[in-house]
Amino acid sequence: MPDPNCWTTERVVLHVDMDAFFASVEELCDPALVGRPVMVCGNRDTRTVVAAANYQARKYGISAGTPLGIAKAKCPGGTFVEGDPEKYVYASLRMNDVCRQFSPVVERYSIDESFLDITGTAKFFGGPLETGRRLKQRIKNEFGLTVSVGIGPNKILAKTASKLEKPDGLAMLTEADIPRRFHPMPVSEMFGIGDRTAEKLEKLGVETIGELAAVPPEVLGRIFGVVGRLIHAAAPGRDASPIIAEAETPPPKSVGNSYTLLRDSNDEDHLLRVLLGLASKVGRRLREHGTRGRTVTLTIRFYDFTTIARAKSLPIHIDRDKQIYDAARAIFICQRSKSPKYQVPIRLLGVSVSGLADQQTGSQGSLLDRNYWSKYDGMIRAADHIRDRYGERATTWACLVRRAENPRILSRKMAGLNSETRRN
Ligand SMILES: [Mg+2]
Repeated sequence: MPDPNCWTTERVVLHVDMDAFFASVEELCDPALVGRPVMVCGNRDTRTVVAAANYQARKYGISAGTPLGIAKAKCPGGTFVEGDPEKYVYASLRMNDVCRQFSPVVERYSIDESFLDITGTAKFFGGPLETGRRLKQRIKNEFGLTVSVGIGPNKILAKTASKLEKPDGLAMLTEADIPRRFHPMPVSEMFGIGDRTAEKLEKLGVETIGELAAVPPEVLGRIFGVVGRLIHAAAPGRDASPIIAEAETPPPKSVGNSYTLLRDSNDEDHLLRVLLGLASKVGRRLREHGTRGRTVTLTIRFYDFTTIARAKSLPIHIDRDKQIYDAARAIFICQRSKSPKYQVPIRLLGVSVSGLADQQTGSQGSLLDRNYWSKYDGMIRAADHIRDRYGERATTWACLVRRAENPRILSRKMAGLNSETRRN
């Protein structure tokens, strides 16, 4: 392990990657799962794939992306848990609260990975490695979850380092490590190279990152297009891309959610309930972003994968669940009544809102209109407050309650720590 005091480069980047994240959160919520092979999936239908497998399940050759049918055959005694995205988002946000205790510059890279720029803050925690050690410890103490931390002078080396000692790892790659540790690694270990690209490279005789760095960029460009030029730029281990803190992330252009039904359905009541659930999620996210939109788009994928998207523009900007639902429902009814070809079973529904404007600047409708909605707005504010504190599944519409009868919200331990984290 390099001496943390010998850090000579200008930037220090820390990458934190939660270990088997979805499965670990499920284990946290249900301790009976600990020690057993656990696979999280979209639903228990065999047409889905495993979204996450814990380390016990990985021993059976199962990983994210394994079709559920194959996973069941490889590990018949395993536990298959239907994933709960809201729970993972909640846990992810709380993890990032902890990350921000170590640096104000935290970029959420994915639901279970973040980059921290600790250039200016590492000295307060005893250097880069000690910062990583303390961050790991704090997450473990507060949530009972393990993470792997990688440290480097840029995102590429930090992300590569976090994979080196997974799970529960802590590793560092400095610029001096580029020729002796980074370049001898297999190409599949490099940030940005997926399984297929790695396979193609290996067929071309390019097995290590060092060999990749030596391939002329025009050759990679010809074979892999834009990706080829990107991986060539990354192979030398140098990367100037900044860590973009959440506040600096550009505002979204649209906010949307979609849902693949457990079974293709033609049941209008059921489909409208799904639409209401989607509209509620979109409304909640719009309010979280402090934005409203005036175009509602409904996406319908039919049983044969034919997909249509129809939009409706409104006279005012909206962020209320009911307004979004009313617009999506109007499109839905109109499309279904238009032609028998749209009255066939549906596989997926999606609702999105675009044409966004800041809550203060967007047109909000007349005073009369706002008076009409005032009671409703009070109720929604209260519901949002409850969700902020107790998780997304703490409240829902009465007609969706069947789905929420058995809410698998985070354990009491995590909920308690949530409020504690927020006070810091
Ligand atoms: Mg991870």
